[in-house]
Amino acid sequence: MAWISFPGLKPTYFVKEALFSIASAIGKPLHLDQATINKTRPSCARVKVQVDLLSNFPKHVEMEIINEHTKESRLEHVKIQYDMLPKYCMNCKVQGHAKEECRGLHPELKQENTTENYAEDIDKKTGENTNNDTRKKRVTHNN
Ligand SMILES: [Zn+2]
Repeated sequence: MAWISFPGLKPTYFVKEALFSIASAIGKPLHLDQATINKTRPSCARVKVQVDLLSNFPKHVEMEIINEHTKESRLEHVKIQYDMLPKYCMNCKVQGHAKEECRGLHPELKQENTTENYAEDIDKKTGENTNNDTRKKRVTHNN
């Protein structure tokens, strides 16, 4: 579950149908936030979506707008912002830490004296992650 925002979206698209159809490019739209429904924050529309953490998160969505009267269509780019995206590690296939913070991928992180809880969580989980070696081979690096 994640909130996505459309900063600078035209007020014309501040309707549930339009916002949901843009949001469906990212995931399954669930609902709008209260300020978006009430149009009390015209600067930014927000939609809660169910996302697949394994998928890519585009920064823009191309929206095809069809004029009901002229039947003309045009493309508009909508900027997407992600709020509170849960951290997900592609390497360990677990939530709680990002790939960038993964101690399996970055052994040097083990040396750091970190006070964050995720490091502790990983230690507790190491028993379950005995298949790490085989899983690693399936990881595709696209950065
Ligand atoms: Zn990891």
